[in-house]
Amino acid sequence: VIELGMPTKSVTTTCAYCGVGCGFKAEVKGTEVIRMTPWKDGKANEGHSCVKGRFAWGYATHKDRVTKPMIRARITDPWREVSWDEAIGHAASEFKRLQAAFGTNSIGGITSSRCTNEETYLVQKLVRAAFGNNNVDTCARVCHSPTGYGLGQTYGTSAGTQTFKSVAKADVIMVIGANPSEAHPVFASRMKRRLRQGARLIVVDPRRIDLVAGAHVKADFHLQLRPGTNVAVVTSLAHVIVTEGLDDAAYVAERCDDKSVQQWREFVARPENSPEAFERETGVPAALVRGAARLYASGSANGTAQSLADAMAAGGKRPNGAIYYGLGVTEHSQGSTAVMAIANLAMVTGNVGREGVGVNPLRGQNNVQGSCDMGSFPHELPGYRHIGGAEVRAQFDQAWGVTLQPEPGLRIPNMFDAALAGEFKGLYCQGEDIVQSDPDTQHVSSALQAMECVVVQDIFLNETAKYAHVFLPGSSFLEKDGTFTNAERRISRVRKVMPPLSGVGDWEATVKLSNALGYPMAYTHPEQIMQEIAALTPTFAGVSYEKIDRLGSVQWPCNDSTAEAGTDIMHVDRFVRGKGRFVITQYVATDEKVTRKFPLLLTTGRILSQYNVGAQTRRTFNSQWHDEDRLEIHPQDALDRGVKDGDWVGITSRAGETVLRATLTERVQPGVVYTTFHFPESGANVITTDSSDWATNCPEYKVTAVQVMPVAQP
Ligand code: SF4
Repeated sequence: VIELGMPTKSVTTTCAYCGVGCGFKAEVKGTEVIRMTPWKDGKANEGHSCVKGRFAWGYATHKDRVTKPMIRARITDPWREVSWDEAIGHAASEFKRLQAAFGTNSIGGITSSRCTNEETYLVQKLVRAAFGNNNVDTCARVCHSPTGYGLGQTYGTSAGTQTFKSVAKADVIMVIGANPSEAHPVFASRMKRRLRQGARLIVVDPRRIDLVAGAHVKADFHLQLRPGTNVAVVTSLAHVIVTEGLDDAAYVAERCDDKSVQQWREFVARPENSPEAFERETGVPAALVRGAARLYASGSANGTAQSLADAMAAGGKRPNGAIYYGLGVTEHSQGSTAVMAIANLAMVTGNVGREGVGVNPLRGQNNVQGSCDMGSFPHELPGYRHIGGAEVRAQFDQAWGVTLQPEPGLRIPNMFDAALAGEFKGLYCQGEDIVQSDPDTQHVSSALQAMECVVVQDIFLNETAKYAHVFLPGSSFLEKDGTFTNAERRISRVRKVMPPLSGVGDWEATVKLSNALGYPMAYTHPEQIMQEIAALTPTFAGVSYEKIDRLGSVQWPCNDSTAEAGTDIMHVDRFVRGKGRFVITQYVATDEKVTRKFPLLLTTGRILSQYNVGAQTRRTFNSQWHDEDRLEIHPQDALDRGVKDGDWVGITSRAGETVLRATLTERVQPGVVYTTFHFPESGANVITTDSSDWATNCPEYKVTAVQVMPVAQP
């Protein structure tokens, strides 16, 4: 029993974990946070929370917090605590030295989806204006960069089309490569409420997740595909819809680009794109794909063009079909193709532009949407405007008093490659543990060791800090003023509950570094940064702290002349790009093949009580519910290998090996194994390979060919 007492102060802020972005009241007694209670007026959560957010305050004052800046000449030297001025001065002089010796493009920065919009905006500004290059990237590279590319190509902007509450109007819900019950629990509750009211459910996932047959919901269809075959399954769903006449021809004619429609229809109708043709590859019985396609398009698993026409003639309407997807879609070699296949599917059925429908990426980190919005990609300025555009560049040149480079900079994996080639020498990494979160750990650590100045800014001495020369103590969300943007484009305030433990906020550290590099920044509060963002970013033009404080939150696009309170549903009368564009989504099998040596496919996911790499949740009460990553293996595969429940097993891939305890379960199909990645010692990313999405380099975390064999307890 923990005696908490009565709070003396309550501060409304936003959860620092997942992309649902729940509002909370942080309750303070004296100088200590004693609990967090869900904010009943929070539009993302309506007074609900999950077990992660409830106890999030625990890590903020954990004993492992580092509160003093530190430097060292070599990564084998011990750390030396120094003043902020000395640490910043050392980083700046090293960055200047490296640029003088190796060129302007020899350094770069990485922004974090755990930091605020204002902090992220400042880091990309630092890179572009003070470093003088576009070598800025974000941790979204390894999660939702294919969403940015795929939705940009088809609809014209990189964001979910709906507000969360829209799910209450859905008739058919399709969940692809996402496990909201574990990863987005508060949104999952809303979805389940709608399912209990009678909405129908299709789950596309290699694993039998809770939604397939949980305590309160049951899917109509579970398309239990082999990992890596999303594009084949979604394209074959479209094949059924087009060839059986279940498409919404009137919507497509009015809203979509004619030429792309014709080419795409011809493509998906080919026999090689039928469920029967793909059955062997995907492992999903064709009859299930046909039933799911009919259900999504017509509202009935037995729907036909005639039954749909009869229903419409009788005054009925097409069902509202809503798609929700997660990293099980994006983290593949065809991640961007899969996002576009999903976008095609929604367009051809008229399921974009009203309540109850849409295409909705469920974002992993609290501010992954915001970090992408803020210009964290090497090819885009804030608001997803390409750096090559002379007009937009001129706007920033004038505002920032610089001349921006027109060529895109390096993506994170390109930074690693350039480092190993001796061309990339310095990195500023804010709030991101790339050694633990990026694939092929050995490759990442080798690249960091090849650099001469690595500056890590984080709240804990994380795995990446092992390769750092400068450590800047970061701030937790309780020590910040700013904003986060959730998966429904909702911008909410993050309010300071306590001063930064290190005495310097994350945004202030970036300002100090910029000043030391000779590019002065004069902000005295994050609100001024948001004012600059609003002035330079059309989708944020109507965003201000005053408005967010008054309304609780706003959703971008937010513009005082057209959408004063923001926009809950996008693409209502027209797509952002004008006409919706269909893209050919040719299925290409992953290079990550099973062989006799590596006969199983490993895929990964999350559990309810832990968040991402666990750096935060492992330091809260949540550690009592789950303290290790385990390997789920089908009983038949286990029997074949002499593995019993709870045994230690070695997992070997082409990239490396690790050891976990086994859990025997029929949640996974034979030939597929599964693990979570919340604990560094499990080494999940030691065994993932460096293959990645063809368009964005998002790593193919979800498919790794492995062998599993019993081993002695390590
Ligand atoms: Fe809400 Fe996500 Fe935080 Fe849970 S982790 S409280 S669902 S924002």
